[in-house]
Amino acid sequence: MEYLTTGLTAWPVFAVGCAFAAEKRGGNSLTWFILGLIFGPLAFIVAIVSGKRCPHCLSIMPKEAKVCASCRKDV
Ligand SMILES: [Zn+2]
Repeated sequence: MEYLTTGLTAWPVFAVGCAFAAEKRGGNSLTWFILGLIFGPLAFIVAIVSGKRCPHCLSIMPKEAKVCASCRKDV
């Protein structure tokens, strides 16, 4: 029972983590917050690994980005 309670307490943390990760990548934080509430840790992992890294400065950006937001180089 204790394990279940701990899991339920951690659930909103994953939702907030998703929102932060999405916002950093230029995504919609509200959408990802809701996804985090539904899928918990799964959505959190997807929010972190999705998106791509700039080959020039290694910052994370949305998959659709054509120009890096950090170093302004074409990708
Ligand atoms: Zn860059």
